[in-house]
Amino acid sequence: MAKKPVVMGTLAEVLPETPRVSTFVVRLPEEAEFSFVSGQFAMLSLPDFLNDKGRPVRRAYSIASSPHDLARKTLSFTITRKGEGGLFSNRIHEARAGDPVSVEGPYGSSFVLDPQDPRPHLFIAAGSGIAPLRSMIRTLLSKEAPPPIELLYGFRGEEDFIYAQELTGYEKSVPNFSLKTAHSRPSSHWTGLSGRVPELLPRLYPSYKGQVVYMCGHPEMVTQTVEWLGTAGFPEEAVRKEQW
Ligand SMILES: Cc1cc2nc3c(=O)[nH]c(=O)nc-3n(C[C@H](O)[C@H](O)[C@H](O)COP(=O)(O)OP(=O)(O)OC[C@H]3O[C@@H](n4cnc5c(N)ncnc54)[C@H](O)[C@@H]3O)c2cc1C
Repeated sequence: MAKKPVVMGTLAEVLPETPRVSTFVVRLPEEAEFSFVSGQFAMLSLPDFLNDKGRPVRRAYSIASSPHDLARKTLSFTITRKGEGGLFSNRIHEARAGDPVSVEGPYGSSFVLDPQDPRPHLFIAAGSGIAPLRSMIRTLLSKEAPPPIELLYGFRGEEDFIYAQELTGYEKSVPNFSLKTAHSRPSSHWTGLSGRVPELLPRLYPSYKGQVVYMCGHPEMVTQTVEWLGTAGFPEEAVRKEQW
């Protein structure tokens, strides 16, 4: 991929989402020219975090904010701390407000929102795969007449619900927004959907109803979801996917 411009930003805020996930809000300099489409990602690095060749360690992260948030000169990234072995994701969780963060991008041309598509939008996410979908949902909700939006979001249990307040807020206040959350390791008092996302699809989406689908999650979830949607008659053109 051709190298894109690099902007040196500053970490403005770290917002804890779950015990292992935080959202990092990066403020760009006033003069920076950065634009992107929901669904794209950027390469992040920390100038003082170098690999054994003396170059900054870089990793790809989906932009979790919407292009409208750029009016405040900010970009958000929602990052899971990988734990043992996870080089960059562990290091950025040690970063503090005021630390410099380098943002290179945006990258990605296949998994991008078409905000003019009038079809009902079905978003399917697992874990931190919600990040690019949150950007897309924010973009759609900033329109005067957003299309109907349904989000099926799978995560382990209650404490792993990223953007819980924001998404349940949409569910309550946006007329055409429907949220289905599914717990893969439900506690004994959870009464909602239980199981991994692909296991739930035959019951929830037995046939194609004219939606456009955007999904993001780990490769196994994405492969199995694409497989089911094909079986259910969703046309390939209507199914967009990102995985990591
Ligand atoms: C387009 C794109 C968008 C992405 N968006 C996001 C996002 O929004 N949020 C997000 O959290 N992630 C996202 N990712 C993933 C991200 O780029 C990183 O891959 C992730 O954060 C792990 O990086 P790391 O440096 O912490 O782990 P790495 O050091 O690269 O290690 C990767 C994995 O290998 C394991 N590992 C490393 N060394 C060993 C070893 N010696 N033995 C066994 N296992 C080992 C680690 O535990 C880890 O799970 C995205 C990836 C892509 C390609």
